[in-house]
Amino acid sequence: MTPLEKLLKDRIRESGPIDVGTYMAEALGHPEYGYYMTRDPFGRSGDFTTAPEVSQMFGELLGAWCADVWIKLGQPEKIQLVECGPGRGTLMVDLLRGTKAIPGFHDSLQIVCVETSPVLREKQQNALAGHNVSWCENLNDPLLQNGQEPLLFLANELLDALPARQLVFHKGQWRERMIELNNEGDFIFRPSPYEIKMPVPVQGQEMDVFEFSPARENFVGQVADLLKQRTGAALFIDYGHAKPATGDTLQAIKGHEYAPVFKDVGEADLTSHVDFSALVRCAKDKKVSVAGVATQGVFLQNLGIAMRAEALMRGHETAQKEDVIKALHRLTAPDQMGTLFKVMGLCHDDNLGLSGF
Ligand code: SAH
Repeated sequence: MTPLEKLLKDRIRESGPIDVGTYMAEALGHPEYGYYMTRDPFGRSGDFTTAPEVSQMFGELLGAWCADVWIKLGQPEKIQLVECGPGRGTLMVDLLRGTKAIPGFHDSLQIVCVETSPVLREKQQNALAGHNVSWCENLNDPLLQNGQEPLLFLANELLDALPARQLVFHKGQWRERMIELNNEGDFIFRPSPYEIKMPVPVQGQEMDVFEFSPARENFVGQVADLLKQRTGAALFIDYGHAKPATGDTLQAIKGHEYAPVFKDVGEADLTSHVDFSALVRCAKDKKVSVAGVATQGVFLQNLGIAMRAEALMRGHETAQKEDVIKALHRLTAPDQMGTLFKVMGLCHDDNLGLSGF
């Protein structure tokens, strides 16, 4: 039993069932035992590989996207580039290298990384040594709230790490799906005895699950507020669906394999698919412009990933060429990351015309 499993079981014994969001929040973010707080989970030796870790092309193209927004904004003298949940800092490193030659762009940048994990913050500091970067822990930091400059905001695989809750359709009613203990002291799911009154955009059948995430909605709402206040644009990239749907997508991943969600609490990654339709609604409520929700494959193709891949292959040996082709396939093919991953683009103004959508 992990220390976090013991802690959560004690809590359930003392004060009753917990919701799935609480379980997820503790598994990932508990200050002492949370998954992200204690380790670097990326890469071959870690638990999973993200798009920037697949290929430099990902960060380079997002760099081109950022520079394009900066130009569309009229090349402001100062712009704040914020990445939330930068992992190992790979995306930012590639973005900065890729945009070096754009006159004036780097001089305008004030870079901020938002990161909760001390382990990953240190990795980012090493990766970005030599660049002028500030760090903070959340969006409420004065660095973001008091900033006046326009904003470029990026978050790759951040939203899926924010807690989501689940409803389960039982006896004709939507109820919260709770976690409690059986007689053996194991975690089990059980529908709450009470109906939950909230608008659910899908029809339920007995034991259907519907996921919702106040944490993700709140997060996107906060970014939307910042865009409204300061102008600029944001990209959220994550796996998920563009239309509301039922389904239990809570999943644990350890050592690149799926694992049971109640096993190795705090030592396996725990995520669920992002419901982009809820986030679009939330952004529209805040009156920001939603450029669209594109699949990652289409988005990267629209930004010219094929051309970038060709340029990387030119003059190289066969082995390196194959690596580029493999990475291109991994990032864009429908049976790889191309379709499951979505990109949501927001900006302060309908007329800005974000590229990629
Ligand atoms: N963007 C990176 C890492 C994705 S993993 C990549 O694509 O490789 C999720 C990242 O979000 C990690 O850096 C994790 O520590 C961070 N994170 C998790 N919850 C967070 C929160 N509430 N606020 C800021 N960062 C968070």
